[in-house]
Amino acid sequence: MAHGGDTIFGRIIRKEIPAQIVYETEDVLAFRDISPVAPVHVLIIPKKPVASVAHATEEDAQLLGKLMLAAAEVARREGLLENGYRVVTNIGSDGGQTVFHLHLHVIGGRQMEWPPG
Ligand code: AMP
Repeated sequence: MAHGGDTIFGRIIRKEIPAQIVYETEDVLAFRDISPVAPVHVLIIPKKPVASVAHATEEDAQLLGKLMLAAAEVARREGLLENGYRVVTNIGSDGGQTVFHLHLHVIGGRQMEWPPG
């Protein structure tokens, strides 16, 4: 199985740089965002280096499902079930993506607004 890729998240997967890991499976890693935008802000990433949802293929279908289920599990562990939370993935420049390794943001612990800015 591929592990990592040439981004900062690849280095976290390979444990070359530290991260506050909150959940890990064979395929998925979850760690706290270094610059949180809410009381809870966890990133869920595949260990396989897929650049974004737009780069995923049919081969990644099961992996994408595992990412969503990991997001729900992390939210449960972080105590977000009662009040709710947001799961979001940014894609490309207009989407606000800065790290080109697919990640879900799990954000909670405060009231969200819609539409996002
Ligand atoms: P995005 O803008 O959707 O690509 O999100 C990238 C996220 O990665 C941002 O929220 C950053 O704060 C976060 N981030 C960047 N470097 C690190 C790191 N070393 N550890 C944890 N989070 C990071």
